[in-house]
Amino acid sequence: MSSERPRRGLMFVISSPSGAGKTTLCRRLIEECPGVGLSVSATTRARRPGESDGRDYHFRTREAFEEMIARRDFLEWAQVFDHYYGTPAREVEERLSAGEDVVFDVDWQGARSLKIIRPGDVASVFILPPSIPQLRARLEGRPGADARSVASRLAGAGQDILRWGEYDYAIVNDDLETAFHELKAILTTERARRARAALGGFVDTLLRDAGVQGL
Ligand code: ADP
Ligand code: 5GP
Repeated sequence: MSSERPRRGLMFVISSPSGAGKTTLCRRLIEECPGVGLSVSATTRARRPGESDGRDYHFRTREAFEEMIARRDFLEWAQVFDHYYGTPAREVEERLSAGEDVVFDVDWQGARSLKIIRPGDVASVFILPPSIPQLRARLEGRPGADARSVASRLAGAGQDILRWGEYDYAIVNDDLETAFHELKAILTTERARRARAALGGFVDTLLRDAGVQGL
């Protein structure tokens, strides 16, 4: 199959209120779908048990993060729950240019910024919890949960959920298998849309070989 240039990667943007399960879903997507990688954000928040620097986040001090802002190292950054979070620009650009699809686990502010910066590249998904009591139970059950962080995340959930209508797709993460299948189906659909844009040269060849005149 020929196409003039490698297809540019898809920016697969995923948001949810904290605890609804987007990290779980994104990790699984990356494990099971070849050609998809995760954008590793920088953050000033403390590492949770089981998280590692460079894999889950680039854990940085406030001073180091502010220097990165000043150097314009971020594609977007935002303040969430009193901490900074930001998407490193260079690494992401290199991967997208090489044709890799990149998953972004960002809040509604990040999703909004990425859509404005790269409108043609973004497909966005909002993950909803099945209920607020279940959201609370998931936050409380997460390794390293403390009462203060659970309370602030629950208090912020409504403000996140209010933005669900800004996203291209929505999934209720009740049963994990069902939610994962839905997420994978959206990725497959969006990849087909991108393939359509990159297949022009290939289709021209097919048409020529089929004897269609005037190309
Ligand atoms: P987020 O990234 O949205 O903050 P996580 O992926 O960290 O959320 O999930 C929060 C907790 O809920 C984790 O302990 C995870 O194992 C659990 N969880 C995620 N999805 C489900 C689900 N469908 N059913 C039950 N527990 C879930
Ligand atoms: P957590 O501390 O639970 O890992 O993440 C808290 C919130 O910050 C989540 O809504 C997550 O999506 C968001 N977040 C993580 N990285 C980024 C980022 O680089 N940019 C933005 N805008 N939000 C982020």
